[in-house]
Amino acid sequence: MNSLTKNAASFDRYSRQILFLGIGESGQQRLASSTAVIVGCGAIGASTAALLARAGVGRLRILDRDFVEPSNLQRQALFDESDANSSLPKAIAAQRKLRAINSNISVDGVVADLTPKNIEELLSGFDLILDGTDNFETRFLINDFAVKSNLAWIYAAAVGSYGVTMAIRPSLTACMACLLEAERSPSGVEETCDTVGVLGPVVQLVSSLESTEALKLLAGKENALHGRLISAEVWSGHFQSVAIPRNPNCRACSHREFSYLEGDAQPYVTMCGRDSVQIHERSRSLDLAALGARLSPAVESVRQNDFLLRFRVPPYEMTVFADGRAILKGSQDPAIARSLYARFIGA
Ligand SMILES: [Zn+2]
Repeated sequence: MNSLTKNAASFDRYSRQILFLGIGESGQQRLASSTAVIVGCGAIGASTAALLARAGVGRLRILDRDFVEPSNLQRQALFDESDANSSLPKAIAAQRKLRAINSNISVDGVVADLTPKNIEELLSGFDLILDGTDNFETRFLINDFAVKSNLAWIYAAAVGSYGVTMAIRPSLTACMACLLEAERSPSGVEETCDTVGVLGPVVQLVSSLESTEALKLLAGKENALHGRLISAEVWSGHFQSVAIPRNPNCRACSHREFSYLEGDAQPYVTMCGRDSVQIHERSRSLDLAALGARLSPAVESVRQNDFLLRFRVPPYEMTVFADGRAILKGSQDPAIARSLYARFIGA
């Protein structure tokens, strides 16, 4: 097969997408030479990765710090029971599946916890960053990096039956700090999928919306971007599409103060004792009673007094203090501590 026929054969798989006027032959060529990095490969990240791999995005990197667990399978569409039984890292399981879905593109899975130290190395050089994370600490870190480097990224999140997404193009649209920095939860307690649950359909919906904006950007069809924040409450059927103005006083995109990149805003993790790590949080005050009530159905042995709340997620035990500090027993791995904190306390 000469290279021209080979090219035609490999493009034939995209024929229905090329027929779609918004993409066309030129858009498909652009997709083939485009690159995207997906940060976090849980439910939204996995589905977005699969859609972009099938669409023919030329190079994908999948970044994730966790392992596949049986409780992921209800909604994380790339994984199956064998991945959970062997506790495969999600980045590696995703890499295998995505290579099997499309062998014409390049896919690399990276098992890592995104931090201010490694963000430059892990995210530089990609055309687009996609949010598949489960926590706001990482999203603000991505936002600071994207604004500083003038890179597009797409925010996407889901919890319960609610999901939200918005494409962020620094200097052209509002950034995530414009959108969210003024209004964090007053009790300090955030809803997470590990405390209030999440429905499979809402993550698929959010992933579809995120992937559509990604295809427009990567195919060079920027004019088609709607630029709006879309939110969906699938249980009640309430959908919204809202234009978000830039905040002229935004810390990140106006004043260019990148506190998350400097590590100032990141919980600091230190070893304490033979088998535990401490997560320091600054300027956070937690309502322990509210947190206890929320955690009770999701974790084991919740005990609480005025000063601290303790619970078990076997084999770990976490103790959380009212100032946001926490001690995780059962591991010395900062990535596990940060992951459990994000899942149960919210970050
Ligand atoms: Zn901003």
